Amino acid sequence: MTGRLITILQLYPKAMNIYGDYGNVLVLKRRLQWYGYEVNVLAYNTGDKFPDDVDLIIGGGGQDSGQLQIQADLLMIAPRLQQLADRGVPMLMICGLYQLFGKFFKTASGDVIQGIGLLDIETYGKSERLIGNVVATSDQFGKIIGYENHSGQTYLGSGVTPLGEIQLGAGNNTDSNTEGARYNNVIGSYLHGSILPKNPQIADFLIDRAVTNKYGVFYSEPIGDKFVGEARKVASKRPR
Ligand code: GLN
Repeated sequence: MTGRLITILQLYPKAMNIYGDYGNVLVLKRRLQWYGYEVNVLAYNTGDKFPDDVDLIIGGGGQDSGQLQIQADLLMIAPRLQQLADRGVPMLMICGLYQLFGKFFKTASGDVIQGIGLLDIETYGKSERLIGNVVATSDQFGKIIGYENHSGQTYLGSGVTPLGEIQLGAGNNTDSNTEGARYNNVIGSYLHGSILPKNPQIADFLIDRAVTNKYGVFYSEPIGDKFVGEARKVASKRPR
């Protein structure tokens, strides 16, 4: 299996990386290594050259000010991201970048931050912040556990499907029971924590898509996720 390389790109780690979101990159890297792959982790910040070869793209959350800072650059690389998403490249966008992968984020202070519209979603900042532990369920991923902290409330259009259904917490907004959104192999979610250490089923979905796109097939040996199981048990019993 040696010599098989997967390249992970983290978008805007300088401005968009809060509540431990970098942990998602670490989980993907380590699981890929356990599966026998070599891993190259690249960072893309404003003004950088977008790399030619990317197999998996990860993005985190950020303050409204961080989102304002990256918006012009993000709009510039949007055609490339759209092309990759249409081609089935897996991506995971958390909170701040989830919002900006949508059409726009109108902040609570009235700024309209233009998004790239890759996800058919719109986000409106509200005065109430939605903060706390979250549990959602999905047919594909089972129980999804994480933590949210956002003022933006996100509404889904017909071009996306929700990632999960809320059991505890708010997720996308206070009007529906949905959390996150999906288009092709792109997942957007409000869940920090970070999300992947406690939800390896989502990590393995992203890995499976990346490896299958590149090498045609993904063979995996089961990983002993004993500690993950313990962490999930504790986390899902936490109060809101
Ligand atoms: N600034 C955005 C909001 O408050 C995103 C926050 C985040 O990424 N946690 O809604």
